[in-house]
Amino acid sequence: MARLFGTNGVRGVINDDMTSELGLRLGKAIGAFFGGSVAIASDTRVSADMMKSAVSAGLMAVGCRVLDLGVLPTPAAQYFVKTHSHVSGGVMITASHNPPEFNGIKCIAPDGTELHRSDEEQIENMYEGEIPCKPWSEVGTKEDVLGAAESYVDAVISLVDSERIRAANLTAVLDCANGAAHYTAPLLLSKLNVRAITLNANPQGEFPGHLSEPTEENLSGLIEVTKYAKADIGIAHDGDADRTVFVTDEGKFVSGDKSLTLMAEMAVSEKGGGTVVTPVSSSSVVEEVVVRAGGAVIHTAVGSPVVARKMIETGAIFGGEENGGLIFPEMQYCRDGAMTVAKMLEYVAKNGSLQKRIDALPVYFTDKRKLSCPAAERADLMRHLMEINATRNMDSTDGLKILYSDGWVLLRPSGTEQIFRIYSEARDAETAEKRGTYYENLVRDYLKTCGI
Ligand code: MG
Repeated sequence: MARLFGTNGVRGVINDDMTSELGLRLGKAIGAFFGGSVAIASDTRVSADMMKSAVSAGLMAVGCRVLDLGVLPTPAAQYFVKTHSHVSGGVMITASHNPPEFNGIKCIAPDGTELHRSDEEQIENMYEGEIPCKPWSEVGTKEDVLGAAESYVDAVISLVDSERIRAANLTAVLDCANGAAHYTAPLLLSKLNVRAITLNANPQGEFPGHLSEPTEENLSGLIEVTKYAKADIGIAHDGDADRTVFVTDEGKFVSGDKSLTLMAEMAVSEKGGGTVVTPVSSSSVVEEVVVRAGGAVIHTAVGSPVVARKMIETGAIFGGEENGGLIFPEMQYCRDGAMTVAKMLEYVAKNGSLQKRIDALPVYFTDKRKLSCPAAERADLMRHLMEINATRNMDSTDGLKILYSDGWVLLRPSGTEQIFRIYSEARDAETAEKRGTYYENLVRDYLKTCGI
């Protein structure tokens, strides 16, 4: 059968492939899988109520008690499920950073983590089959639950040196992409005595401020205001606020692997060692700094559930992705936007200028490219690339990572889109670019021979 769940749940364009019928049927399948009480929350998209209602109706049809948490960041919903033992699972209605016409359905396991692939397969099988509904007297009910946002923010504050942050009298510019953090993020800053200048903190659903993928390009407003306001830091979340990226006190965008590196270094220094988990796509700067601080790095395939599971398996002290999705095990084994903010504020309160700390990091240059590549060609293309690079030093944890003495190139088809990614990293920009071009040409030549 067709795979329904992608890397980040089920996603699609509303009333195209993401319909109320799909929501209803998937709600029934999810309800039959979890049973009992199921929490549900959404981000701020226009279609949030439609999809949440459809999924809720499905959950109730199979007898589940639905706990509606309202609009919440994904990690806040995950934290609610994790900390309420009578809740058997959760559903988050979000398409994260995707454009406003998208929405999605993501399941939360009873321990708050992202659902295992084998469990998703069970739900997919139920979705394809006959789902028995309950008789009229046993259908579920739905109730609103208040306070999940506040409990989440308080839990985050309890895990950082809040006194140190409060005493630092910091100023932050905050960009919520008009998404799920529009309430929790300003609340977190105000409770930490951080003066906040907010941008795009209106839950308008259409994300009119800018596209909700937190890239340098989309965050030009945040960068400008952080510079102009002479703030200590600029903070941006993606649409569902599981990810966070930063702007320095000099108004420079901080790439995700640099914030990942600083947070990893802080965790390793605090604990006097330990393991950090990150995908093969992360910059070597992470490993270099972590090893220097006395820790070790384990590389995994790309995708936060893989990182989280490896962290649980190895007892890692910290983990995360280069896209700003960081995992703090003391809070939960999920990417957590608010934890990332609070920990970075603690870092700035203790270390001063973020720009100075970024400038002190080892320098690597990355060349990132993406080509369109039909899903049907992926496997053959990868086999071809594996063959022609057979004599090189390779790592095939995810895609193909070709290791050089002064860098690496990662060749990897996207799991969710019809694209092929080429990441090249080296000690100097010219080498990174030269290798990027070389592999782009290899891929293009192959696709040409396939008539694409
Ligand atoms: Mg997200």
